Amino acid sequence: MGTVSPRHFVLFPFMSQGHTIPILHLARLLHRRLLSVTVLTTPANSPSIRSSLLDTTISVVDLPFPVNIPGVPPGIESTDKLPSISFFVPFVTATKLIQPHFEQIIESLPTVHCIISDGFLGWTQQSADKLGIPRVLFYGMSNYAMTLSSIMLREKPHAMVSSVDEVFSVPGLPWVNLTTNDFEPPFSELEPKGAHFDFVAETGAAAFKSHGMLVNSFYELEPRFNDYWNQKIGPRAWCVGPLCLAEPPRIQTLQKPTWVQWLDEKSAQGKSVLYVAFGSQAEMAPEQLHEIAMGLERSEVAFLWVLRSKVLDKHEFVKGFEERLKKRALIVKEWVDQRELLAHQSVKGFMSHCGWNSVMESVCASVPILAFPLMAEQHLNARMVVDELGIGLRILAGNGSVRGFVESKDVERMIRELMESGEKGKEVRKKVKEVGEAARAAMRDGGPSSRTLDLFIDEVCNRK
Ligand code: UDP
Ligand code: UDP
Repeated sequence: MGTVSPRHFVLFPFMSQGHTIPILHLARLLHRRLLSVTVLTTPANSPSIRSSLLDTTISVVDLPFPVNIPGVPPGIESTDKLPSISFFVPFVTATKLIQPHFEQIIESLPTVHCIISDGFLGWTQQSADKLGIPRVLFYGMSNYAMTLSSIMLREKPHAMVSSVDEVFSVPGLPWVNLTTNDFEPPFSELEPKGAHFDFVAETGAAAFKSHGMLVNSFYELEPRFNDYWNQKIGPRAWCVGPLCLAEPPRIQTLQKPTWVQWLDEKSAQGKSVLYVAFGSQAEMAPEQLHEIAMGLERSEVAFLWVLRSKVLDKHEFVKGFEERLKKRALIVKEWVDQRELLAHQSVKGFMSHCGWNSVMESVCASVPILAFPLMAEQHLNARMVVDELGIGLRILAGNGSVRGFVESKDVERMIRELMESGEKGKEVRKKVKEVGEAARAAMRDGGPSSRTLDLFIDEVCNRK
């Protein structure tokens, strides 16, 4: 009788918070299904990954990170720490230098049944083919965003309109109305070219050779987009999320951080709090940031704003602002546990850049979103939140453009609509409760996402 080696999955997250956090949740889900799991990372990212997995027996292995990326200071191994997001392409390109080490490590590990690597790490497909191991992409976008982005590149529905703000409907998904401005280059371009497009084309081609993709979403949220993807685009996409529900948020009860104490206080005063955060990556023009601050001030609501120090250092106005609003506002500079924050009973709205993890986390906490997208596919996420799901409102520029400058009066008006429950505010609050319930049901034992993950494991381990 031969011995059966335990199923062993290797997970390789991309180097940024937004891509690493959900993959670590996935690692836990696989581990709980009695799989042996190894997470690959790089030296600077290793300590935080190791500490977040301390309560498990998941192995973490470091791969050397390339030095001397032009323009990137040594020691920076994460896109959220880049001096500017304009270094994104050189950064992802440099990750290719990890390839020989990656292959060496995989060969030295106990038999690997599946490699799950981030969609950005397209080169891992070549290694997986060489080593004869199925590779599955981890995809941190919605089915909605990945389907519509792909349609833009293939079918160019925006060739029909004469301006970037003119609305067009999407072939095959006729109820979806978009504008060119909902996309970033290269997707917004009619004849895309350049380094970023090459990167998109290369990772896309690698995806087509893969065994499929795991999507951080649940089927019931966007069935028509997952069906469209699986029937007309591919490779096969399994919805296994929301991954943020893989474990409960760590509610800190002993040594409560200041922001938790502040939220407790607001809750005791019967106040509803608007949480404001724009993610770990995005950059905002100082004038726009100032306008948002003014809108928050004028709205008279209680709010907690996570503002990174690299932003604060540049903005003198924040000092006076903080002092004036100290009774009803808290500005937080450190990393917060966003899932814990959203779960707090006093938090009744989230002004968000609509990074996909933030959207999923808000849904799971049944907190309605006030969308203020900035970059990447965040504009599409905002469309989805508002038009497709009806779980949030959006702050738009006076001229209606999704990329226009937003004035403080519009910020104020939309905050009041959401937090003081105007007609639309009430509707989205009701809807996000239902969607949150569906999200939690998807991840329960026997729920749709949980079953899909079981199915996926069986399929990938018993191929042919
Ligand atoms: N668990 C689960 N589904 C499973 C296996 C485990 O919900 O298929 C739960 C289990 O009841 C326990 C938690 O996950 O509460 C942690 O499980 P385990 O000790 O196996 O994992 P680890 O602590 O190593 O992460
Ligand atoms: N996050 C957090 N605390 C912070 C800032 C961010 O826990 O102070 C987490 C957030 O919960 C989410 C991730 O970091 O899981 C950010 O991912 P998202 O897709 O929302 O945006 P990105 O930062 O990638 O633009």
